[in-house]
Amino acid sequence: MDPFVYNANPGRVVFGPGSINKLPEEIQRLGLKSPLLLSTPQQVDQVEALAKILKSASIEPAGIYSNATMHTPSNVTDEALAFLHSKSADVVVSIGGGSTTGLGKAISVRTGLPHICIPTTYAGSEMTPILGETQDGRKTTRSDPKILPGVVIYDVDLTMTLPSSLSATSGVNAIAHAVEALYAQNKNPIISLLALEGTKSLAESLPEIIQDPSSQSAREKAQYGAWLCGVCLGSSAMALHHKLCHTLGGSFNLPHAETHTIVLPHALSYNAPSIPDAMAKLASALPESDGDATKGLNILLGKLKVKRALKDYGMKEEDIDKAAEIAVSNQYPNPRKVEKGPIRELIRRAWAGEDAR
Ligand code: NAD
Repeated sequence: MDPFVYNANPGRVVFGPGSINKLPEEIQRLGLKSPLLLSTPQQVDQVEALAKILKSASIEPAGIYSNATMHTPSNVTDEALAFLHSKSADVVVSIGGGSTTGLGKAISVRTGLPHICIPTTYAGSEMTPILGETQDGRKTTRSDPKILPGVVIYDVDLTMTLPSSLSATSGVNAIAHAVEALYAQNKNPIISLLALEGTKSLAESLPEIIQDPSSQSAREKAQYGAWLCGVCLGSSAMALHHKLCHTLGGSFNLPHAETHTIVLPHALSYNAPSIPDAMAKLASALPESDGDATKGLNILLGKLKVKRALKDYGMKEEDIDKAAEIAVSNQYPNPRKVEKGPIRELIRRAWAGEDAR
């Protein structure tokens, strides 16, 4: 066994159907009483339902801020902070996907307020000490233990409304965290176990969700997998796949989970020659892979009926060269050397929607 360092992130997880009703208990456990509730405009119904649960337990929310936005723009954070200052809250509660979690983190790290996070997608941000923020169209990412939410409540009931297409792409976004954890520079056997269990849970449950979006058992298995994959993201140094998606999302305004979904098989096949052990382990977690992880991913994406081409999301052919240029401009640890020619071909294939080979 190779030597390794294992550094567990702290955090409390409350998991199970209906666990949202334990929010009042969690707030009281921390000795707090005045939560600021956060959501996107699309999840106002869920955040209002949360306010009702709190009120029925005699906890009066300090306020509801429902303008969380993708990629945590700093002007939205400033607006939320101004709202917060007029309300004197003592805890931030975010309910939603990575966008709302991001706003909760941005507020928590600036104010020192504790953050209780209630995820409703599979993005996994709730398990990481990472915050990506956008200012003047530029996204910067930082990591700080203070960014990690202190309590996470996973309630499958809140994911039942997640549209099938977003369930699929968000779930593959989660698998991407696990895939890169398997060959991360700081990989270790504990995180690898979580990565394989998380991948297996998602690879089995996501096709079931596409067949029957109302299946609570499939949704619960997907949420469990997403949690484990989020732990992988929060504990591992991500490589080519995440760096490439960051470049593509930030420079060409491509949607987060959809971009991860398209790029993942291509990034994996790029690295495959350098990671035979990770490829074999991953194949064992992907149904119908016949021992070939790239094939397993291609089959999974086929079952999920997701779009496979970056051009479907508005990326232009002339952007391929620019993307390749940016992708090789920052060096970072990756199992295979990141070289412009092969990276351009990777991006071209993802742009065109060709199968990864
Ligand atoms: P999202 O949070 O932007 O959600 C997408 C849309 O789906 C939103 O309109 C949201 O309100 C809606 N939605 C979410 N859950 C729903 C539900 N259960 N039912 C109905 N609608 C629902 O998308 P995301 O993919 O979860 O997050 C993407 C963002 O998170 C990006 O900005 C990305 O950079 C960030 N992210 C950060 C980390 C990290 O560790 N810092 C990790 C993953 C993602």
